[in-house]
Amino acid sequence: MTRNKIWLCLAHMSETGEEMKLIKEAFDTNWVVPLGPNVNGFEKDLEEFINHPDGRGTPGKRVIALSAGTAAIHLALVNLGVKAGDEVICQSFTFAASANPVVYQGATPVFVDSEPGTWNMDPNLLEDAIKDRIAKGKKPKAIIPVYLYGMPAYIDEIMEIARRYEIPVVEDAAEGFGSRYRGQAVGTFGDYGIMSFNGNKMITTSGGGALICPDEETAKRILFYATQAREPLPYYQHEHIGFNYRMSNICAGIGRGQMTIVNDHLAHHVHTKDRYVDGFADVDGITVHVAPEDYMEPNYWLNTIIVEPEKFGMDYEQLRQVLDAANIESRPLWKPMHLQPVYKDAPAYVNGVSEKLFRVGLCLPSGPMVTDEDLEYIVETIKYAKK
Ligand SMILES: *Cc1c(COP(=O)(O)O)cnc(C)c1O
Repeated sequence: MTRNKIWLCLAHMSETGEEMKLIKEAFDTNWVVPLGPNVNGFEKDLEEFINHPDGRGTPGKRVIALSAGTAAIHLALVNLGVKAGDEVICQSFTFAASANPVVYQGATPVFVDSEPGTWNMDPNLLEDAIKDRIAKGKKPKAIIPVYLYGMPAYIDEIMEIARRYEIPVVEDAAEGFGSRYRGQAVGTFGDYGIMSFNGNKMITTSGGGALICPDEETAKRILFYATQAREPLPYYQHEHIGFNYRMSNICAGIGRGQMTIVNDHLAHHVHTKDRYVDGFADVDGITVHVAPEDYMEPNYWLNTIIVEPEKFGMDYEQLRQVLDAANIESRPLWKPMHLQPVYKDAPAYVNGVSEKLFRVGLCLPSGPMVTDEDLEYIVETIKYAKK
């Protein structure tokens, strides 16, 4: 029997075709531009989604829809005044898009390692790094913690340190859409939060992102920079350098459609996690990465496992090849930024956690396109591989 390949995380559209309806409506009404009713509607949907029923932490937060999550990080840094020669603290264990916008501004990323519970920024190491950078003569201009694989970070601790040193926080919640920390949506704790709607994220607009802004005034400023920084005059007058970063009304139509099924997506990712946890419960040497605290509610965007070769009998790369031969896509965890050739000269505060995880972890197929039958097949394949 030949099986179709089981992919890591495929986009999934609503069964009722909401996305197509909204795209068609955009065409029918000739809103085929980077503004329009779908963009406004999508932003409203996102604001409602991140707003906790109690209003905890989020009152007045505004969301601006953009062309990518990377653009959202970039605009946050622009509006925070990050410029050439500045330093910005970034999580080392992440996708390069978390740190690259720092370099777009001519600034230098300073990498901070993770702690082993959440795999996200280690608050103690963060404070060490801040102190050391200040002692060396440069106070960091911003901190970019990440919610890797949708796992909440120890954000209360990170925010406490950031406030004490008066450094703004830009939360990279690109992978954390729908994750909550003490009931509050991730991305709403810091000065800014970023979302991504790339093809493989929790929801997609084919490609896109958004910036969670602290208030209406900041949102207006972000919109200004996102649309070429045009001054409010009848002719084109420019006093700042702007960007072409607005989301199109077509993409926003997909986003609005996706928002009708986002809770199903979230439930399915958690269901997938449960199946993996149950499936590997009696498999020595395989551990599923789950929330270390009960006040953390990850979206389990990508489910990840740790493979201990001494117990399992093969390492993560050998297991990846076994899965590949069985038509199952899996992938090593993110390679830390401080190990990336392009960032070899950037300062880094490391403790060994991300380097170790990179050498033992694998992402497994997750998301609505992965069926229960697929999950059973994946678990059985891994059990069968065990030596
Ligand atoms: C996907 C991702 C981004 C970038 O989002 P895009 O929409 O692809 O630009 C940033 N940070 C992390 C951690 C991501 O996974």
